[in-house]
Amino acid sequence: MDRLHHLATAVADFVAQREWEPYHHPKDLAVSIAIESSELLERFQWRSPREVERLLQDAEYRRGVEEEMADVLIYLVALANRLKVDLPAAALAKLERNARKYPAEEFRGKAHRDQEKPGG
Ligand SMILES: [Mg+2]
Repeated sequence: MDRLHHLATAVADFVAQREWEPYHHPKDLAVSIAIESSELLERFQWRSPREVERLLQDAEYRRGVEEEMADVLIYLVALANRLKVDLPAAALAKLERNARKYPAEEFRGKAHRDQEKPGG
């Protein structure tokens, strides 16, 4: 069993054991993803990129970041369970669409369409 499938089953079991299915409306799961994403952002708020790089060397800070990332993923998996979305298939399909939208030859080294290549 692949790890994402294992996680999806673990999340479903966690929810079922607590009889939380009635609370897991898609809207509330989407709201929860946004809230947990904000908690992740809070870890970086008011910190310079250099400060964040330094803080990420600290085990406790890094653990906090990992926990918020985990919260985001757990709610995303719960939403995929609820909507019966094959998350890896959906992500791979979207990645293919992104690859067509942003061909590597055209976008290598550029963050957006209007950006000149470095030194270009
Ligand atoms: Mg959290």
